[in-house]
Amino acid sequence: MPGSLQAWYSLRDLEALADRETVLSGEVELAELNRLSPLVHVDEGRRVAMLLSFSRTPEARVLMGLSFQVTVSLVCQRCLDAVEYPLDETVEWLVAESELPAASVSNQLELLELGNDRLRPADLLEDELIVSLPLVPRHASIDACGTLAQNLKRVLSTQDS
Ligand SMILES: [Zn+2]
Repeated sequence: MPGSLQAWYSLRDLEALADRETVLSGEVELAELNRLSPLVHVDEGRRVAMLLSFSRTPEARVLMGLSFQVTVSLVCQRCLDAVEYPLDETVEWLVAESELPAASVSNQLELLELGNDRLRPADLLEDELIVSLPLVPRHASIDACGTLAQNLKRVLSTQDS
């Protein structure tokens, strides 16, 4: 079965993907991500590119890596204009049925306990997108900001003198 990012996978399915060192890639429309879309300005057709790869660690555990790239449009908290914010992240997990001894999970890895649950790659992607959004989005410098912040800067500098 060629994998789908919208399908549900059990631990057994993921183990089979890891044995075949499968790489799933595709694009998901931001508008389809219901938990993320209220947090960003969603233009029609804006997509996030994702790559999900599976392999086995030397201890035969399932290693899953997720990479994604998208530029989201957020509201700058300084000038309230739109600010384009590129997200480009890679996260890796050890997927296991239950908790593993801490020593077997290295620092760079997160543990994903699946148990009898199933995993949908598009949901995982959405979780990671949400946590990678900046808490206070802003233009890189005040000079890149819109007129509101520029005017405020001018007013404040006049008061100083
Ligand atoms: Zn701004």
